[in-house]
Parts: sequence; C-alpha cells; structure tokens
Amino acid sequence: MAWTRFGKKKDMPGGLWIKCESCGAMLFRKEFEQRLRVCATCGYHFTLPARERIALTADPGSFAELWTDLRAQDVLEFNDRVPYAEKLVQTKQRTGESDAMVTGTATIKGIPCALGVMNFQFLGGSMGMVVGEKIALLCEHAAQQRLPLVLFSCSGGARMHEGAVSLMQMAKTCGALQRLHAAGQLSISVMTHPTTGGVTASFASVCDLLLAEPGALIGFAGPRVIATTIKKELPKGFQRSEFLLEKGQLDRIVQRAAMRDELARLLAYATGRDPVAAFKPLPVAVEATAEVAAAVAETEERPKKKQKAKKG
Ligand SMILES: [Zn+2]
Repeated sequence: MAWTRFGKKKDMPGGLWIKCESCGAMLFRKEFEQRLRVCATCGYHFTLPARERIALTADPGSFAELWTDLRAQDVLEFNDRVPYAEKLVQTKQRTGESDAMVTGTATIKGIPCALGVMNFQFLGGSMGMVVGEKIALLCEHAAQQRLPLVLFSCSGGARMHEGAVSLMQMAKTCGALQRLHAAGQLSISVMTHPTTGGVTASFASVCDLLLAEPGALIGFAGPRVIATTIKKELPKGFQRSEFLLEKGQLDRIVQRAAMRDELARLLAYATGRDPVAAFKPLPVAVEATAEVAAAVAETEERPKKKQKAKKG
C-alpha cells in the first residue's frame, strides 16, 4: 500500500517526479515517499499532513481521536473574496478535516500520551478558535488522565479570518499548558516546517521540551519583513532550526525518521515507563524501503546464524 493512503493525492504535485522545494533536485516520487518525504539530496523535510504524522508517530491503531465535532464560527462575518464560512466548508470538503488541528490520545512505543498535530493543508495550519480550544481541552485531558503531552506544530500563525478571537488563543493555550505543568505532566513541542506567527509566539515555544525537524522555518514575523524593518541583512540560516538551536531557543533537532524513537525515549524519562522493546512495525512506507528491509533482514538473520553455529 502506498504511503499516500492517509493524504489527499491532490495535495501532492502530480507525476512520477517531484522537485525539491529547497535544492531543486528531481526526486522519484516512490522513493521520496518511502523516505518519509525527506529529500535524498539535501535532507529537506517536506511538510507532512496531520494523518501521516500520526501514522508515523503513534503505535499502529493506538490513536483515539477526540473532539471531532468542534467547528469554527464566523463571528466577524469575514469576507476576503470568499466568505470565511464558505471557505471553511470548501476546505473541509477538500481536506476531509474539520479544522487545522487533530487531537487525541495514543501510545508511542507502548507509552500512553496526549497527542496533538497541526494540519498545514487546512488554511495554512492557522490557529483559530477550534485549534486553541482543542489544545486547551487536550491539556486538561492530559492533566486529568496523568498523561504527558506531545504537540506537533506546523502553521502560518493566527487565523486572520477570526481576528482578535484567534489572537486570544495564544493566551488560552499558554494558560492551559501552565496548568498542565502545575499538574506535574511533561509537555513536548515539536516544531516542523513552517512554524510561524502566533503559534511560535505561544504554545509551540512554551512546552517543557522544544524539538524541531531539520531546516524548519521557525519564527514570528517572516525574514523579509524583519530585513525591511531593521534595514539590515540577516545572518545566514536565520530562523531555521539549526540557527535557533545554536541560539538556545531549541533543545534538540531530530530527523523525521528518528522522531518516534526520540519521543519514546523522552516520554520514558518523564513517566518512568519502559518503551516497548519488541519490534513494532512502523508505517508501511518505512518497511518498504530497501534500506530498512535489508536492516530488518540482517537483524533477523543473525540469531539464525548463531543457532546454526551452535548446532554445528
Ligand atoms: Zn533537496
């Protein structure tokens, strides 16, 4: 089965080949998908739809989604060519998602946690009332159930269609995270490309541990806006994960393929539980890569060889 089974095909550029957004290399689609949408030439991590992120992070079949019935209200009757209410309906039809955040509970290598993932496909992953409410509810649920929290962000910032209501979500999510902290539960923020605006300036930056994928754009205002405002040339790599790690704004950069293991390790520290040692199958695409298949075959072969040697 193809890796795209969770995503909408039209969210991907068509054809057998894909051009890397970062280095311009032509990537063979099948290999690109097997590499979890990471460029084989430059290591650029493409944006992942929320459902694919969940499939890659949570143990198979462990994700139980919560608060699926929350819907945004068009309180301002906002209209930018298409009325906001209409835009919501169209985006829902196009993406199959009701808003830009998917929340629920899951296990990661056998360790239970609360999991929230932003969806860039839904109006640029913008944070409005539903995103804020889902994060607040998830924090409360995590505190009640004594679960650590993992949040993946991927966002253009606050949702302009909701005006001040969307900006209020910044304070609301930070307050909810503070209460979770007071309840003694760990929170982990994983910032992926791009994490900007009101999301960076609120919940994504105030969790206990701040992780990021390589090369992710993370910032409040965009680099062009800052450069024009301060009338100075910006340093190389400005607002990218590596730059922010060097400046102390991030705790760690984690490759996409290693993220699940890293999260399990951190959750194990926080909860005192051991990650499940037994081999758990990763999503189909990972199994399908020649490299992984070879590695698995090699590890499976080794004990057999030993047994043979013993018998001989
Ligand atoms: Zn590339």
